[in-house]
Amino acid sequence: MTADLIIVGAGIMGAATALFLARRGMTVSLLDRGGLCAAASGVNAGTLTLHMTRASLIPHAIRGHALWTGTTPEGRDWLGTDVGATAAPGLCLAYTDAEAALLQRRTAVRRQAGAPIELLDAARARGIEPGLGGDVKLAAYCPIDGHVTAYRTARAVRAALAQAGVRLHEWTPVQGIDASSGRFVAYGPTGRVKGRRLLLAGGVWLEEMLGWLGLSVPIKVLVNQLAVTDKRPPVMRSVVSIASGLLSLKQFANGAVVVGGGWQGRGDRLRGGAEIIPERLVANLRLAAWTIPALREATVLRTWLGLEAETADALPILGPVPGTPGAFAMGSVHSGYTSAPAMGEIMAALVREEAPALPHFPLDRLLIPPQRQGGTA
Ligand SMILES: Cc1cc2nc3c(=O)[nH]c(=O)nc-3n(C[C@H](O)[C@H](O)[C@H](O)COP(=O)(O)OP(=O)(O)OC[C@H]3O[C@@H](n4cnc5c(N)ncnc54)[C@H](O)[C@@H]3O)c2cc1C
Repeated sequence: MTADLIIVGAGIMGAATALFLARRGMTVSLLDRGGLCAAASGVNAGTLTLHMTRASLIPHAIRGHALWTGTTPEGRDWLGTDVGATAAPGLCLAYTDAEAALLQRRTAVRRQAGAPIELLDAARARGIEPGLGGDVKLAAYCPIDGHVTAYRTARAVRAALAQAGVRLHEWTPVQGIDASSGRFVAYGPTGRVKGRRLLLAGGVWLEEMLGWLGLSVPIKVLVNQLAVTDKRPPVMRSVVSIASGLLSLKQFANGAVVVGGGWQGRGDRLRGGAEIIPERLVANLRLAAWTIPALREATVLRTWLGLEAETADALPILGPVPGTPGAFAMGSVHSGYTSAPAMGEIMAALVREEAPALPHFPLDRLLIPPQRQGGTA
């Protein structure tokens, strides 16, 4: 049977779009070569962040935050289940003059884009986060950051997709797309799936997927290291990051503290996250314990790696595929978990040929000039 839409890539981006469209009556086949929300969408740090979001994506992150935390009437039913998403204040800290200048510049730009971020001195920052150590020079405070647990969310996404009637095809690797019949046929070793429209939502593998349609769009792969501690008594109540981008920290309701900050391990698109680099992990943990001294007592229980995608301008791909009517692509953005439900709403509107409530991010800008002129092969 031919679906209204085939989505290749069942991470949070593809799944959110599938959900919104199936709820509006479309038949959607959602394909993944692995399990649902098991790549970046299953292993990320779960920070809902405006601090780490590029200015032109701030409205999307604000909408995403509202959907995750259920602070709008529509937000309550984005997944239909309480996934424990928690709104918490976000503090981005500067310890050096250079970091303070960076924070001032960034705050001005993000405020202009609608983020309710303000600058605080060290005393006011400690009023929000009494556990802070170090000599804080300046802090940027955002009242609407927070966090969500990726594995808990993945379970809720599965239930929501089933309820909406999305046809989920896990363990279905796609090797290419045949668009010669006026329909899209996704083919691979497990068979063929047909659809009237196509959405490619492949995270770091979007580069390869766009290649199926004859486009060359370089996608950078970040191999992020993360660590989680044992369950601690409360040591912090905000989401803390550092202006340099080298630290992100928050404590979940069960007491575990997740330590991240984009320290890079070894790996690539083919092998996945292959190897933690111990000295970088130690540096990340030292920075964490310096920022929140109570963490000196913590024990690291587990470390892991995940692949995060980034385009050349660090903004998402979110729009039609030039030269292939009926085909769309989305994703490949830093800190994309925060804005994913909002990006799903936008993509759902584009597929339905409706005007989205927020701007999309056309793919044309990332194409090299000959492709821009000639469309796809
Ligand atoms: C370690 C880490 C920490 C992060 N922390 C945060 C954070 O704190 N806050 C935040 O907002 N964001 C964070 N992110 C970013 C966020 O996780 C991603 O932006 C988001 O999950 C991307 O979702 P996606 O659906 O685009 O990609 P993915 O979740 O990667 O999904 C892509 C899917 O495509 C499938 N696929 C690929 N090739 C094929 C094929 N040939 N056939 C079929 N299926 C295929 C893959 O199996 C995969 O499931 C983090 C990312 C990482 C890796």
